[in-house]
Amino acid sequence: MIQKLKQRSFKYFILLVICLLLPLIGFFVYATRFQTGFFAFLTLALLINILLLSLFFHRLKNRRSLLKLQREEFSEKANVLKVDLENEVAAIAAFRRKIVTYSQLKVFVEKLSLCLTQEDSAHMLCREVGRFFEQADATVVVYVLDAATGELAIVSSEANQHPVNVKSKRGDVFDRWIMQNMQPLYLEDTKNDFRFDQDKVEEEQTRPVRSVLSVPLAIHAKLVGILRLDSPEPAKFHKEDLRFLKAIGDVAAVAIENAQLYDKVEDLAIRDSLTGLYLRRYLAERLQEELARHLRRDKPVAFLILDLDHFKQYNDSFGHAAGDLVLRHMAALMRRHFSTPGNLLCRYGGEEFCVVLPECSKEEAMALAKSFVALVESEAVTLRREKTPVTVSVGVAVFPSDGRTKEELIQKADHALYEAKRKGRNCACAA
Ligand code: GH3
Ligand code: MG
Ligand code: MG
Repeated sequence: MIQKLKQRSFKYFILLVICLLLPLIGFFVYATRFQTGFFAFLTLALLINILLLSLFFHRLKNRRSLLKLQREEFSEKANVLKVDLENEVAAIAAFRRKIVTYSQLKVFVEKLSLCLTQEDSAHMLCREVGRFFEQADATVVVYVLDAATGELAIVSSEANQHPVNVKSKRGDVFDRWIMQNMQPLYLEDTKNDFRFDQDKVEEEQTRPVRSVLSVPLAIHAKLVGILRLDSPEPAKFHKEDLRFLKAIGDVAAVAIENAQLYDKVEDLAIRDSLTGLYLRRYLAERLQEELARHLRRDKPVAFLILDLDHFKQYNDSFGHAAGDLVLRHMAALMRRHFSTPGNLLCRYGGEEFCVVLPECSKEEAMALAKSFVALVESEAVTLRREKTPVTVSVGVAVFPSDGRTKEELIQKADHALYEAKRKGRNCACAA
């Protein structure tokens, strides 16, 4: 534009010289030679011409600088628009990513809501987070806080969609930092972070960890657990990943707490609140299942009924609360003695208990019953600061030799118990 204008003004200039100045010069020469009077007029005309020309060039100069200004303004506007456009494109891309992420999050929430137990929720969380961060090649660990001990415990750990054994079961220095600060943690490189003592980090490390992305699983500022991602290489995660992990963590915390509540409610429905042993109703269901299972595999099941001797006396002499204490003491001894996994311990009612011992012969059951009688006798209970002896009588029956149905088995064990009472108590009798 400016170039064109320059060319055009040059043309005007040439035209002016040709059209005005040349005839003027001609007249000027003519006037000085032949018409001296006319000379003054020509000089005036020449001055006017020069004035007009300088005015014209001045306007042209103004116009040029105006145009230059406008050009700069336009290019500035173009730059701003370009930046705006780039920002818009980036925003659209981020928005698209967000839509994908939130639809993944929606699927994740739906899947998580189907998990009823804490273990299922933690496994689901591990698997899904591992999938979200697939490219980071990370290890995902879900810790749950044991409210009673205040310690962390790993419930699930996966790497590349496969379970892995993480040795630091109670968490390490980074997990403790989260417990103390209740804040998400982003570590680009564990070796370059002033918050952690390097000697301690190295001393505690059971596997190489260089980058960490971790969030507390909390509800109303109450810690439920920790969701952690780590990698043996530095700078494997981005800071913005933390926000996404936090969103997952918030949902997961609710799911884990719900699962814990569900477990508690389920436990309340099947366990006796005083002793923590299974209730009779639950035992009846489980005994039926155990008998059917063992019948198929042709294996025995031992059934023991235990009854505290002269229990009424504790209530009468020390009060009902002392009686409850004796019942709890008895349950604790049962848990200690019949601790093999698979054994079912139950409060049958009042001061009567029963034990189901899968794959246990009559001889083994009798040996266990006798040693339990001896244990109860040896462990006196303190009532009102007084060591008070407690004894128990046990009746033993074994499936299928003593009874082929649940009812028959219980009846046989009950008869054996009656026999033990008749013999003078503090002993075990078999059917
Ligand atoms: P035996 O040696 O013949 O078994 O005598 P016993 O006194 O143990 O038996 P009995 O059936 O006469 O008494 C059982 C008592 O247990 C009666 C009841 O008050 C008491 N009892 C039942 N359930 C509870 C309970 O939950 N807490 C307390 N403290 N006492 C209970
Ligand atoms: Mg009794
Ligand atoms: Mg009784």
